[in-house]
Amino acid sequence: MQKTVAQLHEELKKGTLTVEALVLGAKKTIKEKESEIHALLGLYSDTLIDAQIKKAKEMFANKTATMLTGIPFIFKDNLLVQGELATGGSKILENYHAVYDGTVVKKLKEQGAILLGRANMDEFAMGSSTENSAYGPTKNPHDTTRVAGGSSGGSAASVSAGYVPVSLGSDTGGSIRQPAAFCGVVGLKTTYGAVSRFGVMAMGSSLDQIGPFGTCVDDVEAVFDVISFSDPLDSTSLPENARTYDKPLKKIIGVPRSFVEQKGVDKEVLANFNESLKNLEKAGYTIKDVSVNHIEKALSVYYILMPAEVSSNLARYDGIRYGLSVPGDTSIKGYFESRTAGFGDEVRRRILLGTYVLSSGYYDAYYNKANLVKDMLVKEFNRVFEEVDVIATPTTPTTAFKVGEKSHDPLSMYLADIFTVPVNIVGVPAISIPTGKDSNNLPFSMQFIAPHNGEKILFTYGRALERLY
Ligand code: GLN
Repeated sequence: MQKTVAQLHEELKKGTLTVEALVLGAKKTIKEKESEIHALLGLYSDTLIDAQIKKAKEMFANKTATMLTGIPFIFKDNLLVQGELATGGSKILENYHAVYDGTVVKKLKEQGAILLGRANMDEFAMGSSTENSAYGPTKNPHDTTRVAGGSSGGSAASVSAGYVPVSLGSDTGGSIRQPAAFCGVVGLKTTYGAVSRFGVMAMGSSLDQIGPFGTCVDDVEAVFDVISFSDPLDSTSLPENARTYDKPLKKIIGVPRSFVEQKGVDKEVLANFNESLKNLEKAGYTIKDVSVNHIEKALSVYYILMPAEVSSNLARYDGIRYGLSVPGDTSIKGYFESRTAGFGDEVRRRILLGTYVLSSGYYDAYYNKANLVKDMLVKEFNRVFEEVDVIATPTTPTTAFKVGEKSHDPLSMYLADIFTVPVNIVGVPAISIPTGKDSNNLPFSMQFIAPHNGEKILFTYGRALERLY
C-alpha cells in the first residue's frame, strides 16, 4: 500500500522522513520499473529538483510547509516548466524548452513541491491509450501487455506504479479519468475554468482542463485545493466569486440507465457498476434512474468541436516559431515539410477533420450544429441536477485493452470515451474511483459527475465509494 500525501506530510513534519530520502525512494522505484512501463519521457533537470528540495527543507525548517511541500510530482508533458523540455508527446517539439512556468507549475513550485519528471502522453493529448506518443506507448502497471489508457497514460501509470503519490494530467474528453480507470487510481476532471490553463499546450480550448491523479480521494482533493484559483492570465478562469456551490446534498445518485447499458459495454463492467450502486444504496444513498436526453450525441459533438479547435490551435506549429523546422524551397513548402515530418497520423487526421468542419459551407452544417447540441446538453444536465447530487456511470465501457488492439481502428478507440466525453462538452467536473478488479485482475472504476463547481460533492461521494472497496 502506497503512502498518502497526508501520511508523507506527517512524516516529513516530524522528521522521520527527509525530503531527500523521499525523492531518492521515488527515483529508485522509477529505475526499477521504468524500462517495463515507460510512464516517463524524462526527469526534470537536477538543478530544478535540487532547488525544490532545498526550498522544501527550508519551508519545513521555518514552519511554512504546506501539505504539498516536499511531495514529488510527475507532470504530463504538455505543462510548461521554465527551462525544461516539454514535448507534448510530439516529435515536432522534440527539442523544445519551455520559456516560462505555467500558472499551476508556478503555484506548485511556490508550495515547495518536488517536480520530478515528465509523463508520457498521446501526441498533443489526442488518444486513449498513449500509443499515439511519438516516444512509444506506456504500459499498464497491472499488466504490461495492456495499455495504461490515455492521453495522460504516463501520469496515471506513474501513480499506479508507485513512482509518486500524485501527478497532473489534462482532460479534454476523458484523458484523466480513462487512464485513471485503466490504472486503478483516482482521477479528477475539474470544472471548466476552475484551474488555470496558462502554460498548458492547447488541444481543444473550450474543453481542456488540468486535474490531479492520486491513490485516494483525499490526495486528489489536497492537490485540487492548491491548484484551483482565479488567474488573470487565463481568460476562461472563473472569478473567485463564481466558484461556490452551496446547495444542500440530497443523497440521490442519478443513473442514465439506457446510456449506461448500451451496446458495447462489457458485461463484467456492468455487473461491477450495478454492484457498486447496490453497495452505495446500502450505505444510505438513493439510486434514481434518469434520462439525460441527447447524451448519446455527445461523442459526435466532441468529434466536431474538438478537431475544429485542434486544427486552429496546432496551426502555430509551423516550422518557424516552435520546434522542428524542415526547410523547403519556399516557405509554404517548409511549412508542409515540417508538419509532415513532425506530426503523427492521429494528429493529422484531426487537423484534416477540423479544417473540414470549419470550412466555408460546412461550418453551419457541422460546427454550428454541434454547438447547438452542446447547449441542449448543458440544459439537460442542469435539469437532471435539480433532482440528483451526482450522475454515475462506469468510467469506461471496458477495462484496459491490449497494446495494439485498437491502434489501427480509430473509431473503436474513440468509443473508449463514450462515458467521459459528455462531461467535457458540458464543462462540469467528474471523478473516477476504482471499484475492484475484473476476472483478468484489471481495475474497474465508477465515474461520478457533479454540477459546475461541485468538486466537493465529488470528494464526498468519492470517499463514500472508496470506503466500500
Ligand atoms: N481520448 C480522447 C481523445 O482522443 C480524449 C483526449 C483528451 O482528453 N485529451 O480525444
